[in-house]
Amino acid sequence: MKPERKFLRQCVSCKTYKKKEDLIKITKNKKNGDVQINNELLIQGRSVYICKNEKCIENALKKKKIENSIKSNLPEIVKEELYTVLKK
Ligand SMILES: [Zn+2]
Repeated sequence: MKPERKFLRQCVSCKTYKKKEDLIKITKNKKNGDVQINNELLIQGRSVYICKNEKCIENALKKKKIENSIKSNLPEIVKEELYTVLKK
């Protein structure tokens, strides 16, 4: 792995490597299985990253890429939150 990739994360949808700040992080809590957007919180568990753009989010939702990655259902509230993040 190249050193400059060390701080980059891969979008689950378009597979592009980006800085953490440019991605939305979704984590499935290891302790209770809760799935939530985890940008500022430090939740331990399986995480996926996704670009802050509509195309990546729609593609990921349509193809269930997030669900497949975290091996869990994505709650409706998290889907709504994803679109809320876009509008900010
Ligand atoms: Zn993407």
